[in-house]
Amino acid sequence: MSAATMLAVRLLRHEQDPVLTEIPVPTVGPGDVRVAMRACGICGSDVHIIEGSTVPAYLPITLGHEAAGVVEAVGDGVVEVAVGDRVSVNPMLSCGTCRQCRTGRQNLCPRIQVIGLQRDGAHADLVVVPAGNVVPLPDSVGFALGAIVADAIATPWRAIERARVQPGDVAVVYGLGGLGLHAAMLLRQVHGVRVIGVDASDSALARAADFGIEEVVDARAGRPATAVHALTDGGADVSFEFVGSVGVVEQAVRSLGYDGRCVVVGVGPDRLGLSLRQETLVARGQSIIGSHGYVSDDIRHLLRLLDDRTLSIDGTISHRVPLTSYADGLAALRDRTSGAIRVVIENDM
Ligand SMILES: [Zn+2]
Ligand SMILES: [Zn+2]
Repeated sequence: MSAATMLAVRLLRHEQDPVLTEIPVPTVGPGDVRVAMRACGICGSDVHIIEGSTVPAYLPITLGHEAAGVVEAVGDGVVEVAVGDRVSVNPMLSCGTCRQCRTGRQNLCPRIQVIGLQRDGAHADLVVVPAGNVVPLPDSVGFALGAIVADAIATPWRAIERARVQPGDVAVVYGLGGLGLHAAMLLRQVHGVRVIGVDASDSALARAADFGIEEVVDARAGRPATAVHALTDGGADVSFEFVGSVGVVEQAVRSLGYDGRCVVVGVGPDRLGLSLRQETLVARGQSIIGSHGYVSDDIRHLLRLLDDRTLSIDGTISHRVPLTSYADGLAALRDRTSGAIRVVIENDM
């Protein structure tokens, strides 16, 4: 590899697997930093991009949005970040000027651009982002964990913040993949609340106990909301939907008791069309809340919790592969029998 090129995983055509190829090293503009990628997750949303249900802004594009690494170059005017800093990358690039951005809700910026979808991403040796999109990674947190914090842990964290979880609450988590397991760990370790997990796969239900979820409901055995009411005194206080299915949203709402809050994180194209009566929602004082992404402060806060050991995330990185074996990592994520939770690319450069 010559000095002016680098390896990158590029999606060349829609609905075709990406290829590992050499491309020019990206230049660093004013206010930007270039990060040498040390770890980057392959996320379920990357599979959606590859399979065509999510369409990237242009082709060819470098995939990857869940990254941590070492700052390798800084652009003009960058003072808060220095070459050599270990960082997590917030992949959500916001405009900085709209009402949402000015009020600390950059995750809701209508002009948001996500690396690996609207900009070149981090499944590559190097990635360029604005300096404001990197968060210092404490020495106690490894790159692989630093990578998944910046998406797979920050997303459920923001959802839990949206739910206004109180001590003594009972929480139900629908969908025990990476995000759902991280939600359960956060709910138990940080908020100390009881968690009931719901899933429809044998492997997900079997491993739930390893992640501190002692009560599980098999979604195939009848309506899970009925099972949740049987396990609780009048329904759950908060429920989380990580599946992206209107049928699951319905069950998540129906799992709630009085003043219950359902936070929907899963993304799907279908109309909600809830069968819930309007008067029931009102009489029970319930809320249905959407939650999208996270902000840099969420990543910063989570890294602090990991550093002071309030939070311990173990076991959800199921596969680690070098950048040169990207195809193997992608195959593991797609293979339902592989037991994959989070697959992380590691790059020793
Ligand atoms: Zn993701
Ligand atoms: Zn904005």
